[in-house]
Amino acid sequence: MSVPGVRCDDHRRRWDIREYEKKASNRIENLRSVKKQSAEDEESGDEAEIERKAVEKKIARTLLQAREFKVDLESRLGKSVIVTKATAPSDAGGYYCNVCDCIVKDSINFLDHINGKKHQRNMGMSMRVERSNVDQVRKRIEMNKAKQNQVVKEYNFEERLKEAKEEEEKIRAQRRDKKKESKKRKLEEYQSLQDDDDAGNEDAMAAVMGFSGFGGSKK
Ligand SMILES: [Zn+2]
Repeated sequence: MSVPGVRCDDHRRRWDIREYEKKASNRIENLRSVKKQSAEDEESGDEAEIERKAVEKKIARTLLQAREFKVDLESRLGKSVIVTKATAPSDAGGYYCNVCDCIVKDSINFLDHINGKKHQRNMGMSMRVERSNVDQVRKRIEMNKAKQNQVVKEYNFEERLKEAKEEEEKIRAQRRDKKKESKKRKLEEYQSLQDDDDAGNEDAMAAVMGFSGFGGSKK
């Protein structure tokens, strides 16, 4: 509440600190008295009351738990659907939550919804998170370390695969060169033998062997 007596020469709102302090202390006192009352009730041993509380505790929602599946946001992306009045909400456009039976129109709001209080309540969970103990933290750290090592291993494997491929390629290239050289040598030998023969004869021989010429004339 702004204080009427104080002149406000800027746009900021001012608060009556004393009034709010009084309200806060009243609230705290009320809370304390309620707690005291409930403690006294328990001590008094009212069986019906105790039973009711036990049932309430059973109904109490579980702690917030991590989702174990991947949220499907993209499977219906870019598809067109005809939506009529008779279309089931799960088949209509947008993201359908089968827990709360509601449709959310876009992925950001859908994520907000499934992470939200109302949805978690319908799932039977409260928004309270379990407090981890030291052992759990250690386990998690070890797990993450193992994960890192796995990634390194995979990388090494890929690298080795690449190296092997390169090695194979080299060997192939060498073989190709050898083949070329041996062909060339054979040709040269043949040419040196046929050097004195006339061109017609050579062409005929080439035709018999299946190519147009020996290419020696290019040298
Ligand atoms: Zn929901």
